[in-house]
Amino acid sequence: MGFISSRGKIHVDGHKDLTLHSEIHEIKDEKTIGKIYISKLAANGKEIKFDVEVGDEVKMGQRIGERQGFYVPIFAPVSGKIVDMENRYSCAIGRPVSHLIIENDFNYTPAEKLPILDYDKATKEEIISHIKEAGIVGLGGAGFPTYVKYENVTGIKTVIINAIECEPYLTTDYHAIKNYLELFVKGVNLLKRAAGADNAIIAIKKGKAELVAKIKEALKSSKNIEIKELDDKYPMGWERVLVYEIMHKDYNMLPSEVGVVINNASTAIAVADALLNGNPITKRLLTVSGNAIKNQGIALVPVGTPVSGIIEHFGGYTADQVVLLVGGPMVAKGMMNDSFVIEKPAGALTVLVHEEIKASPCLRCGRCTLMCPASLQPVEIKLAVESKNIDRLEALKANSCIECGTCSLVCPSKIEVTEFMRKAKLQLKIAKARSMPKKN
Ligand code: SF4
Ligand code: SF4
Repeated sequence: MGFISSRGKIHVDGHKDLTLHSEIHEIKDEKTIGKIYISKLAANGKEIKFDVEVGDEVKMGQRIGERQGFYVPIFAPVSGKIVDMENRYSCAIGRPVSHLIIENDFNYTPAEKLPILDYDKATKEEIISHIKEAGIVGLGGAGFPTYVKYENVTGIKTVIINAIECEPYLTTDYHAIKNYLELFVKGVNLLKRAAGADNAIIAIKKGKAELVAKIKEALKSSKNIEIKELDDKYPMGWERVLVYEIMHKDYNMLPSEVGVVINNASTAIAVADALLNGNPITKRLLTVSGNAIKNQGIALVPVGTPVSGIIEHFGGYTADQVVLLVGGPMVAKGMMNDSFVIEKPAGALTVLVHEEIKASPCLRCGRCTLMCPASLQPVEIKLAVESKNIDRLEALKANSCIECGTCSLVCPSKIEVTEFMRKAKLQLKIAKARSMPKKN
């Protein structure tokens, strides 16, 4: 299926300078991380079966349960005592969810390390099974279990490491690579071997010469790993766009169809830290930025830290009405409140001044269609959504939308076109589930 066109990439104002030169703030105060919360539901809605209960003492990095569905073990981010269960809003689920509460004893008593691999001798199978047992999930936002991309997958020629970070405000991967460069390079090597790939390509945006020089130096003893510097255009970091840009190939469902597997740069670091140092993911690096928070910076917090404390740590909100996003402004949706906690895939908090935007009628200018990187016709999909025309939505391939936000951004009438794409997918999903009679 032809899918991604080479058109539809635009430069968006990155606001990266707000955090590009920040130091990492490791947040350690009792007010913010005195209690750590672990959701009972994973991002995909699957239950986490805890094997600890209220009253138990836990060590940092101790296995405390596992996710149902795709197997993912869960580890305690801090040491302390499990004191209660509590309902809190979950940003991943979008409603209140029961959370396990660990009262942090601030001793950071370590649990037994994960089994450590011999970096030089580990086989493909050993690397994949260790990634699985370490509970590594994608840290680029999706939180998909990393081993699933490698286990029983054959024919992979190239591993692409996504360090593009094309969303405005986000600099998490930039800081992660800069601060954990040795782990990053080892992680890329391990993922290349896990895939049985011929080569690995680190994709990074142009304009980061200093970091690129450091990566090149660190890669000197690595074979068949190259850096590809790509234009500073949005949505360059989206998997389909990235594969098209680098490999000049489209795929239907998964990059593996064209011999490619993609992992985020921070995920590569997490893989190396788990497999070579025995550390599961207990902390999360994240960009805290935007025009409605007093200070901006890079935070390092235990997984399960309440967002309200992080906001306070960075000086609090500077506007009465704000939009709080987990991620960047192109894709993330506004949160209902800040009582939720940071989960593993959350790499950014962006806080923006709420602006009332009044949309005007569609001009039929065609800019959304012209700029869509997936070669869709957003304006036609919008009309089909409004008339609930399921046949038309199918014909227009609405499900192929990657929700990149470009159509909303370029619309001169300020219409939230992307919202219509989400509604289109929902209508298609409901129609499929209920086998609704289709409208002619
Ligand atoms: S959000 Fe969907 S329809 Fe809009 S530009 Fe992106 S891929 Fe195209
Ligand atoms: S860009 Fe906006 S105004 Fe132009 S056709 Fe698309 S929805 Fe209509």
